[in-house]
Amino acid sequence: MPHIDDETLALYALGEDVLEPEQRAHLDTCPTCARTAQDLTRVTTGARRSGTAPELVPPDPAVWARVHDELALTAVPAVLPPPDAPRTPPGEVDAAVPDEPAAVPDELAARRGRRAWWPVLVAACTALVLGVAGGVLWERRTLEPAETTVASTVLDPLPDWAGSSGEAVLQTTADGRRQILVTVDAPAPAGTYREVWLLKPDVSGLVSLGVLEDDQGRFDVPEGLDLAAYSVVDVSEEHLDGDPAHSGDSVVRGSLAT
Ligand SMILES: [Zn+2]
Repeated sequence: MPHIDDETLALYALGEDVLEPEQRAHLDTCPTCARTAQDLTRVTTGARRSGTAPELVPPDPAVWARVHDELALTAVPAVLPPPDAPRTPPGEVDAAVPDEPAAVPDELAARRGRRAWWPVLVAACTALVLGVAGGVLWERRTLEPAETTVASTVLDPLPDWAGSSGEAVLQTTADGRRQILVTVDAPAPAGTYREVWLLKPDVSGLVSLGVLEDDQGRFDVPEGLDLAAYSVVDVSEEHLDGDPAHSGDSVVRGSLAT
């Protein structure tokens, strides 16, 4: 099943009983959803501990509609005070209702007052949690880039390709693979294509990384290949002649050796 959506997890973090049985099972086995729920719970716990009573504001109608859907509430407008109505703090009986029948016990009236504010409180907390969680997720993404740059080099043109230029960047991915990002600015005559290679500096060995489509490409470095030995990045012009060997016509070249 797909991951549990953020709104549902936020309500769950607020202590609401919103999870379907299959969502509950998913949460037990999915590290992604479990971590999100954990983050959201930490936020709500922190917000509850902060001690300062927040000013309660009626939610935007769109927010309210989503909360309503989420909780499958009925009689929506009845529980929302009109925008200009005097605000009643949660848990307090509205003193502006003197017509309340005397037969209604105080406790019931109090509960009614609480209930009227409860969805607004949930909506406000949901907005707070989603906002903070969004910030947390954004920060995590910013702090953990997908790739780490290890080395980079300018690719200089060979004499036949004066005016061309390029760049090669060696990166490691989050799961430890090595990749080389190659960018080339050079004319591309019809009927030719470009291939990216790693060479030994004395050109006694070469490994093909693949065909460079367009002006930029990302290539995996074969696992175990010694980049200290194969330190030169070379981009060649190749012809559609069926010969897999290097054409001998290098366009740009540079060394990743540090
Ligand atoms: Zn999940």
